[in-house]
Amino acid sequence: MKLYLDPGHGGSDPGAQGNGLNEKDITLDIALKIRTILINNYENIEVKMSRTTDITKSLSQRTNEANSWGANFYMAIHINAFNGTAQGYEDYIYSNLSDSSTTARYREIIHAEVMKLNQLIDRGKKKANFHVLRESAMPAILSENGFIDHAHDAALMKQSSWRQNVAQGHANGIAKAFNLKPKSVSPVPVPSETIYKVIAGSFKQRNNADNRAAFIESKGIEAFVMTTTISGEIWYRVQAGAFSNRANAEARQEEIQNLGITDTFIITEGTSPTTTPTPSEPTPTGYSILGQTFLSPEHMNLYVKTVNPHAIELGDFYLTFGEYYGIRGDIAFAQALHETNYFRFTGTVKPAQNNYAGIGTTGPDNPGASFATPEEGVLAHLQHLFAYASTKVLPDEYPLVDPRFYLVKRGSAPTWTALNGIWAVPGTTYGQSILSLYGKMHSPNKI
Ligand SMILES: [Zn+2]
Repeated sequence: MKLYLDPGHGGSDPGAQGNGLNEKDITLDIALKIRTILINNYENIEVKMSRTTDITKSLSQRTNEANSWGANFYMAIHINAFNGTAQGYEDYIYSNLSDSSTTARYREIIHAEVMKLNQLIDRGKKKANFHVLRESAMPAILSENGFIDHAHDAALMKQSSWRQNVAQGHANGIAKAFNLKPKSVSPVPVPSETIYKVIAGSFKQRNNADNRAAFIESKGIEAFVMTTTISGEIWYRVQAGAFSNRANAEARQEEIQNLGITDTFIITEGTSPTTTPTPSEPTPTGYSILGQTFLSPEHMNLYVKTVNPHAIELGDFYLTFGEYYGIRGDIAFAQALHETNYFRFTGTVKPAQNNYAGIGTTGPDNPGASFATPEEGVLAHLQHLFAYASTKVLPDEYPLVDPRFYLVKRGSAPTWTALNGIWAVPGTTYGQSILSLYGKMHSPNKI
């Protein structure tokens, strides 16, 4: 599918103006974002833009270019203006087209998708005799994304997160209208989990094992009996803990030995015999903490609700702060899901803490930081990631709310997997778990 994407105006033609904004800048930013989303997320699409910078280009230059390139679809992005009182979104197809035309059908889909995300009043689906609609040889739509001279609309236009949402709406609509094939996320290597089980005695007689387990439990350590067959004979093993980290298992073993039990040993389970995880870092692209957020807030919120229908909606904050700090807000969101068990808070951290990333949490005795609001909690999360991923000074639009920002060795973890053993101690698969969860979020057929 060949998309000709036309951000309105440019260069010496600023387009509509109001509230300190020029139409040409907003249309360009939205269009660039649309291109990024489509190219990154779909297989069968080519995008040609009328301009990617602030240049002057006539209307006929634009339609001629689209026609000679043989575009399948022409999408023009504009911002409206009137007298300061009008507001909202509307889109146009060529005035001679019927409501059952192919173009009208595309518009139906795109209009609905854009409206889902743009926070604007719906002014409806319209027709007009505009040059780009009339002179383009393929189906063409022109969207007017709010009024630049209206206070509410202009305030939105100033937010990068709004422009991102508008772009996402257009991209979703185009993808749906043209049945674009989602790119499959390259599989993230997830090392198979190794479990270290501490065995505090192995017995031929069941009651001996039961007695041992009861003794250990009386000392405050969880223990239970499991059976295993060795050379055709059943043995009763007392298991006193299972750990994903060998050092923790050894520490438990020592505790058991301190109780006077000497016949302890550690068994290793769950290692995949054939695939050894490669020690090398995955390609940094896509796995670095810094980068653009691809998933929309709506997508993030919808995904978490497939697992936890009562989940709090934090997608907007992850996008907004992610964009502001140049961090992958969608992968940070996946990290929050990993940390909070899909916002069910089944671990140490309680919901009222608004601490979605376990900042400062070390265990039941120290549940870690608390934040005043969900928004502040997400802000702290992103600031904490910024500390790890970047050596730059923290941009100052928002106050520093991460209490541990200055405790981080700046720039020590540019990638998600580099957080292993740093954010999660101990941990050898922490980043991989986050990326694996992100992979599931990313697969659109899941929602
Ligand atoms: Zn315009």
